Amino acid sequence: MTSSPPQRLVCSAKACRARATDAVVWRNPALHAASRRKVWLACQEHREHLRDFVQLRGFLLEVVPVDQLTEADG
Ligand SMILES: [Zn+2]
Repeated sequence: MTSSPPQRLVCSAKACRARATDAVVWRNPALHAASRRKVWLACQEHREHLRDFVQLRGFLLEVVPVDQLTEADG
């Protein structure tokens, strides 16, 4: 894999341009294979909102700091 410039991590919440500090990792078992990991980036303000959104649907896998995300996520 070639090196790429550091990506600016921006919150996934609608219309939010804040820098993401956490990643909400989730999967919809009806749509995604067990190996898939969907990631929503979240700023401090939206972290709990995004986490609750997927948690209410039973999709939440984990919430991790963005610097602990691996290349395989996405
Ligand atoms: Zn945000």
